[in-house]
Amino acid sequence: MRINRSIRIGVGIAALAIVATACGGGEEARSVSSSAENGNLIVGIKYDQPGLGLRNPDGSFSGFDVEVAKYVADQLGVPADKIEFKEAPSAQRETLIQNGEVDYVVATYSITDARKEKVGFAGPYFVAGQSLLVKEDNTEITGPDSLTGKKLCSVTGSTPAQNIADKYPDVQLQPFDTYSACVEALRNGAVDAVTTDDIILAGYAAQYPGELKVVGEPFTTENYGIGLAKDDTDGRNKINDAIEEMVSSGAWEAAFNETVGASGYPLPAEPTVDRY
Ligand code: GLU
Repeated sequence: MRINRSIRIGVGIAALAIVATACGGGEEARSVSSSAENGNLIVGIKYDQPGLGLRNPDGSFSGFDVEVAKYVADQLGVPADKIEFKEAPSAQRETLIQNGEVDYVVATYSITDARKEKVGFAGPYFVAGQSLLVKEDNTEITGPDSLTGKKLCSVTGSTPAQNIADKYPDVQLQPFDTYSACVEALRNGAVDAVTTDDIILAGYAAQYPGELKVVGEPFTTENYGIGLAKDDTDGRNKINDAIEEMVSSGAWEAAFNETVGASGYPLPAEPTVDRY
């Protein structure tokens, strides 16, 4: 009996090791310039955020982050059809970069000191702020101070979820894996509100006009960066050059108008790249 048990545990450990290897655990982070020289880039984006990063039913990708990702690739000498897009949910972004599963991430990814311990950031290429999404007929929730006792959905591994946990402990925070899952929970009444960046919420509000609305003023500053390997200084410099070129050429504004612009979100001030 005892022997059987230890054999079972041994087999279990061996199986776990195989799974860990298959998942790419322990692989090294990539270098943006080497990948670009090889003519291929793997870019992490969101798949479920309308106006920002969206996988369309026909398999194509659209949104402001997708346009930024393509512009940067083009500046690095890689045409759009040589980009492989990969889904980068909020909680997995650092790991995808650290394990070398993507070259860079353009996924409503806020630059923070905690994340900078693990990855590098070019940018910012956009500045947003945390806000709230509620049902159109909701008059009770007007800002973060009116959330006490309410069920609030946000996404695991995101700065808005962390901010609520830190500063508004009386809110019933319900962490999901994606914002689209939060929006479904809001629509079917399982939660009272969804919180994340205003630009993301504006995209969902535009998807359900007359049903959902963004309320209150933004209550944080979210500087969107392009995440890449922590020590890839050369890649960071090149991506910063590309962002500056995108802004100064007018391509940044044009991309905004063609994507996020449809939601009615106003064109913000141009971002200034931070070369740390
Ligand atoms: N910008 C925030 C973050 O990076 C929220 C949006 C998101 O989760 O993608 O955590």
